[in-house]
Amino acid sequence: LTVVKCGGAAGVDPVRVCADVARLVESGERVVLVHGGSAELDLLAERLGVPRRTLTARSGVTSRYTDDATLEVLTLALAGQVKPALLTELAGHGIPATGLTGIDAGLLRARRKKAIRARVDGRTVLVRDDHSGRISELDPAVLKVLLDAGITPVVSPPALAEDGRPVNVNADRVAAAVAAGLGARRLLFLTAAPGVLADPEDAGSRLEQCELPADGGIPGVGGGMLVKLIAAREALEGGVREVLVGDGRVQQPIRRALDGESTAVV
Ligand code: ADP
Repeated sequence: LTVVKCGGAAGVDPVRVCADVARLVESGERVVLVHGGSAELDLLAERLGVPRRTLTARSGVTSRYTDDATLEVLTLALAGQVKPALLTELAGHGIPATGLTGIDAGLLRARRKKAIRARVDGRTVLVRDDHSGRISELDPAVLKVLLDAGITPVVSPPALAEDGRPVNVNADRVAAAVAAGLGARRLLFLTAAPGVLADPEDAGSRLEQCELPADGGIPGVGGGMLVKLIAAREALEGGVREVLVGDGRVQQPIRRALDGESTAVV
């Protein structure tokens, strides 16, 4: 089983990703496709007049402020735009696929983040309505039923919090949880970079291998890529044998990443 996570940034091409997923499935491999959708979320939020706000924690870490309206737009963008687009592509290749969020059939449970003191729009406030959480439990039953029936699951946030309401969770960590929970042999992150770069400004500096130190970061690796490496470590600790980061913007992105044009996280 291979879990493929395709990134939400503009540039990662769903047409090429799905063509390669189809090839993999046709070769007899079971695949779960996990997706984010930050670019579509930003576009839809703008169309609907929902402002994008950022939370800056005291540690300096920034995250999307998922207030009521943003959670609504996030669900619309992921479950109503990105997911049907991926399913349509797969259907075009004759691959039966079905879309799920973490809410479907108890797939993903999350612990809602507590009220935090953070800076929003330059002011320090106590934020109580940030609907984001951390994955606490995965029930892979529904994925197994689908895979056994020859159906490719296409999975995204949100997850269900302990209070019975949806929360946003990080899609890279969803992919890691799914890969570990299903005993996948490999997890492939496709993103808008050639892999993990030694120098983020130099596209030619892709690392063949990369190790995330147990106690934190790597110089030069920041933002979304650091989260990916944290998710990669969760997958490796969960028993996934191979975790790769490859370029989602190229022709045949999965084949190329599996053929070595990627960074192996070890
Ligand atoms: P996705 O939307 O695919 O999940 P993110 O945008 O969250 O991905 O994270 C990937 C991004 O991280 C890259 O596109 C790049 O802009 C950024 N990044 C920061 N440091 C690095 C690095 N050392 N190597 C590669 N990408 C990096």
